[in-house]
Order: sequence, then structure tokens, then C-alpha cells
Amino acid sequence: PGDAVTEMLERIEKDNVKFLRLQFTDLLGMPKNVAIPVSQAKKALTDGIGFDGSSIEGFVRIEESDMLLKPDLETYTVLPWRPRENAVARFICDVHKANGEPFEGDPRYVLRKAMEDAKKDGYTFNTGPELEFFLFKMIDGKPTTLFQDVGGYFDLAPTDLAENVRRDIVIALEAMGFEIEASHHEVAESQHEIDFKYSDALTTADRVVTFKFATKTLALMAGLHATFMAKPVYGINGSGMHVNCSLAKDGKNAFYDQGGKLQLSETAYYFIGGLVKHAKAITRVANPTVNSYKRLVPGYEAPCYISWSASNRSAQIRVPAPRGNSTRVEFRSPDPTCNPYLAFAAMLAAGMDGVRNKIAPPESTNKNIFHMTLAERQETGIETLPGNLYEANLALLADDVVCKALGKHIVDALTCIAEAEWDSFRTAVHPWEVERYLATY
Ligand code: GLN
Ligand code: MG
Ligand code: MG
Ligand code: MG
Repeated sequence: PGDAVTEMLERIEKDNVKFLRLQFTDLLGMPKNVAIPVSQAKKALTDGIGFDGSSIEGFVRIEESDMLLKPDLETYTVLPWRPRENAVARFICDVHKANGEPFEGDPRYVLRKAMEDAKKDGYTFNTGPELEFFLFKMIDGKPTTLFQDVGGYFDLAPTDLAENVRRDIVIALEAMGFEIEASHHEVAESQHEIDFKYSDALTTADRVVTFKFATKTLALMAGLHATFMAKPVYGINGSGMHVNCSLAKDGKNAFYDQGGKLQLSETAYYFIGGLVKHAKAITRVANPTVNSYKRLVPGYEAPCYISWSASNRSAQIRVPAPRGNSTRVEFRSPDPTCNPYLAFAAMLAAGMDGVRNKIAPPESTNKNIFHMTLAERQETGIETLPGNLYEANLALLADDVVCKALGKHIVDALTCIAEAEWDSFRTAVHPWEVERYLATY
């Protein structure tokens, strides 16, 4: 490890780095960082840097707030939009307690633990997310919900005015080591999607966080506001973060079986079984805002029923056509406001429960579920996802497998947040109510 630190210090010097940002995420998945001048690099990379955890959402109480950030050397990257001279680089850190033990409230630790657990059976969890976002106009330095363009799915310039910003984002992400697979205008006005190559879930979760702050930064440099809010505008599509999931074992895709039904392995079916069984609890972390539930309604290409299908996009879980090494399960309910570490940890724990306990998935749904009546759905056993954050949190509390994966510290903190958010929302009087009732009653 000493050598690795020496090599890293050389690299930092070669890159002309003047400031290091030590980054981690709070419970909500918000990136936090502390900047240190490069003179402190050796100390930071060897011993870590202390900080006060009591001011971080979901972390610790005042009386036990001395914490330590330990940079993960693998995550070093220069921030390409900052000057090259006296450059800025960042590390993503693991959070430790003052006694040196890993901190159980660190979302990255939770995912690490879930990955280690799957490793006991030889599995690596790979994820490939599809992040959607809106680019809105700014007025007087404040974000609005005014569209920057009125393009639609796969539109080109001049309807797609965002091609320059998207290009800047793609170039920056590539400079940070992302392999970008596609970037396009999405269905809604001013909505976009950029896809990057899958990797192990920890690397991917780090990238999701980086993706969001890089996108916001580059949009701002172009005078626009990028938002990952799930449903910013009523009446048009919201933004999802579909997650393509697979397990690898001995370097091979464990979801592929040439001789299996639909060329899927038993492992793939059981993983789907686990996702279906724990879908409600996963929703608490995959859809963590009050607003997330306004996306999960019929009519906007987002799922609202717990179901799977080999093709049908109205299902929550879909198996895209490619097979062989590209065999995967697309989990379509998460939205980009999620903390990716917690969402992936919950999904993996659910899938592994399926694999270990041989949970067979229900019959696949090949009809458009949105055209089915409630009676038809009940007959086929298709359940509905939680309708709001409060319900989703109750579903989490009722799910031992997902609670265990997240750990008590995180579940308690998530519960406090859900209750406070939900109370604040449900007691507010919304413009809709005033418009509907004020004159009539
Ligand atoms: N925006 C849709 C969602 O909320 C997805 C649209 C698509 O990618 N086809 O999930
Ligand atoms: Mg897509
Ligand atoms: Mg999309
Ligand atoms: Mg998709």
C-alpha cells in the first residue's frame, strides 16, 4: 500500500494538481466534499482526513461526530472542467469512525457489504444505469421549469438545442474515464439521456454520483439548470434511472443459459423472483422523494405495477433482447433522485435472496398492464408499487431482507426522513386544492 500511495503522489504531481477534493455522499446521495491543498495529500492518503460528521444528513449525533475520510485510490480523477494549471482532482472516500472501523451509515459501505455478501457465493453484481434528466432555463440565476427546447425522442438540431451541452457533458465524462455508449434527446421536451457502460455496482454507483454533479456543473456553465428530479413537470414523462442488472460468476454472465427458457439461466429467474418479492421495500430507496411517486403513474412510460416481462415496456422488470454476455434484467422503477449505493445494495440483497432461496418469479406479463382492469390484475396477481414515500417506508420496515442489507443505522435514518418529508408534504395546501375547492365551497 505504501507503494500505491507513492505512485499516486507522483501522478498527482504530474497532473499539476493543486487541490484535492475528498468526496463522499450523505444518506440522500448528495455528494459532499472537503478540499485540501496538495501539501496535505500524503497525510490524507496515508492516515485519512478527519471531519465533523454531525452536520451530514443521516450521519451521526453531535457526541460521536469525529469521523475520518479515507480516499479510495481507484477513484482518482482530475475534474476536467477546472483549469489544467493548478488543477483540481477528486477522490471518493470511505467513511470511518474515530476508532478506525468503517461507519455503518456510509452508503458506500452498505453497498460494499452487500457486494461482499454476494461474493461468498462467487457472484459480482454488475449494473448499467440509464440516467434521464431535464435541462431548464435559468432566469436571474435561478432555475425554472421553462423548457430549453421542445424536441422529442431522438430529435436532432435545430429542434434539439441541447446538442452542444450534451456534447460538453459527454466529453467531460469521457475525460473522467466513463465509456459513453449513447446520448440522445428523450421523449419529453428538454429531456435527455446519456448512457454509460456497465461495471461492478460499486464503480457504477460512484459514477452515478459523478455523472449527476458533472452534468449539473456543465449545464450551469452553459447557463442551464440540469435536474434529476423525478417528475418536474405535470403531464409529460418524468425522469427514470433504469438499471440494467446482471450477476457474473467466474468471469461469465450468470444470467445467460443457451439451453434455458428464453436463454435465461435459473439464476436469472430467481434473481427476478427476488426483485419481485422485495419490490416494495426497494422502492423506498430507489424512489426516495415525495415527488418520485408522481412519476410512478400510468401513461408516462414509467412502471407502477410489480411485474416482469421479456419484452413489454409497461412492466417494472424487463429482459432486453441481447443475450450471451449482454444478458441482463432491466429494473425500470428507480429514478435518478435515488442514492445509487443504497438502491443497488437493496436490489442486490433482493436478487440474492431470490437466488439463494430459489424464489420463482410469477408468470411473466406479456400484455400491456396499463390496459388491464383492476380485476384482471388481481386475477393474475399483479400488485401495485407503493403509492407514496410513507407507504414505501412502511414496506421497507416490513422487509427483513432489505432492512438487514441496509443496516439499522440507515433504516432508522431513512424512517426519520420519510416521516418528516411526508408530514411536510401532506400538511401543505397545494395550488391544485385551492383551484379545485376555493371557489366551489
Ligand atoms: N422517462 C421514462 C421513465 O420515467 C422512460 C422513457 C424511456 O426510456 N423509454 O422511466
Ligand atoms: Mg434508455
Ligand atoms: Mg430513456
Ligand atoms: Mg431503458
